Amino acid sequence: MHDYRLVIDGEQVAGEEGRFAVIDPASGSAFAECPAGSLAQLDRAVAAARAAFGAWQAHSHAQRCEALGRIADDIEREADELARLIVREQGKPLALAHAEIGGGVAWTRYAASQQIPVETIERSPTQQIELHHRPVGVVASITPWNWPFMIAVWHLMPALRAGNCVVSKPSSLTPLSTLRLVEIIARHVPRGVINGVTGGHGFGGAITAHPGIDKIVFTGSTATGQRVMQAAAGNLKRLTLELGGNDAAIVLPETPVAAVAEEIFQAAFLNMGQTCAALKRLYVHESQYRELAEALADIARRQVVGDGLEAGVTFGPLQNADQLRLVCELVDDARTQGAEVLCGGARLDRPGFFYPPTIVIGVNDGQRLVDEEQFGPVLPLIAYTDVEDALRRANASSMGLGGSVWGGDEAHAQAIANRLESGVAWVNCHAQIQPNTPFGGCKMSGFGVEFGLQGLLEFTTPQLRFTRSLPAPVAS
Ligand code: NAD
Repeated sequence: MHDYRLVIDGEQVAGEEGRFAVIDPASGSAFAECPAGSLAQLDRAVAAARAAFGAWQAHSHAQRCEALGRIADDIEREADELARLIVREQGKPLALAHAEIGGGVAWTRYAASQQIPVETIERSPTQQIELHHRPVGVVASITPWNWPFMIAVWHLMPALRAGNCVVSKPSSLTPLSTLRLVEIIARHVPRGVINGVTGGHGFGGAITAHPGIDKIVFTGSTATGQRVMQAAAGNLKRLTLELGGNDAAIVLPETPVAAVAEEIFQAAFLNMGQTCAALKRLYVHESQYRELAEALADIARRQVVGDGLEAGVTFGPLQNADQLRLVCELVDDARTQGAEVLCGGARLDRPGFFYPPTIVIGVNDGQRLVDEEQFGPVLPLIAYTDVEDALRRANASSMGLGGSVWGGDEAHAQAIANRLESGVAWVNCHAQIQPNTPFGGCKMSGFGVEFGLQGLLEFTTPQLRFTRSLPAPVAS
């Protein structure tokens, strides 16, 4: 069994609180152990990051970019082992785990190519005014269990690129691929610049309240995000909060069903539906409701559910028992209220956390399956008669991560998309992200963005440089 280690001040160390088991979602049994750090180790990680900050921020941009390039090379070289580890701890099929690593490489290379601009506001004979962006200091990254490797990359690479030092804390459900990522990064940066810690209950709270941390980049649920925000108030930590979503999609009347069904299915069931910006509520005009539902159910029935390391498997288990319980509960609740389950709809009778892709019709707003984030392999379809009403219902959510509008009349679809209350509004696609396009939510889905220049600048603090020239000395 691999001996996973924390990374603190450039050293790989055992956890002072022992170890905890990491569960393989395909079997429901432990397959590895993760070191459990102590709060004293967290303090040492933060102190190491603080101590390293002065020298790391003084590195040139080119030096930092070069380090990121070498990190991307190493990730690529170790992709196979990393992808298999992701399958074991997270559950996704191997091809998707490879896509996660590939995304990690692409985002790392993008961060390595980014420039941090200096904006000239005024330049006159008497004064120069420029806006610079300086690193924030020590950044803590707290990540969830759905895309453990890629989301850690999203946090760590721009933070390092901008000149910050980092303490990374992965979810204790999927800590291992992140510890391996931190280990790779540590090969290419000075000691203390990157640290990786994991711990038991209360560890995340200790990070968010830690006075030695200047910024937190957090991806996770809205409830935890609220706790992070409260705890961060002590020293006014800067925050990027990427929280839950309950993304609606509206399919406009007369949309060709055959042209959109596969794309909609993939957007809803990406990573077994455990994706923040997955399509989670589908509003379909009554004239096409049954046809689209049947088309989606056909695609769902074709999925091969199983252990992600088995050849031919396209659909893995949910990541953990709690999430499986929630999905069962939401579908059962819809059923008792008269919903029709076209396919799936029950946990598979086998070890592990398997739930097949499930299409539910005859549901409506006000029911839990529509109003709550299911974060699993279930798509509720809601029939509408009037587009304005569908838009009103799509927006009647406290969440505001993404949303989409589908239709052959692009201008009409865009006009409706413009009125979605969401951080991203897609037209004829959903959950599309790329390194150069800012991504983030509004309302209770959080604030701040990741990716693109705006995402990089989240890891900086503005400094206005205002210079006056002294009058030339008077000749005597
Ligand atoms: P979670 O909120 O339970 O946990 C996220 C992280 O926070 C974990 O590392 C956890 O250990 C840590 N944590 C727990 N309590 C904490 C505390 N009091 N203080 C600080 N950290 C604490 O979320 P999850 O179940 O791991 O992830 C699923 C959620 O994440 C879903 O709601 C999903 O929509 C959301 N998500 C959002 C995005 C996005 O970009 N908006 C991306 C992925 C996932």
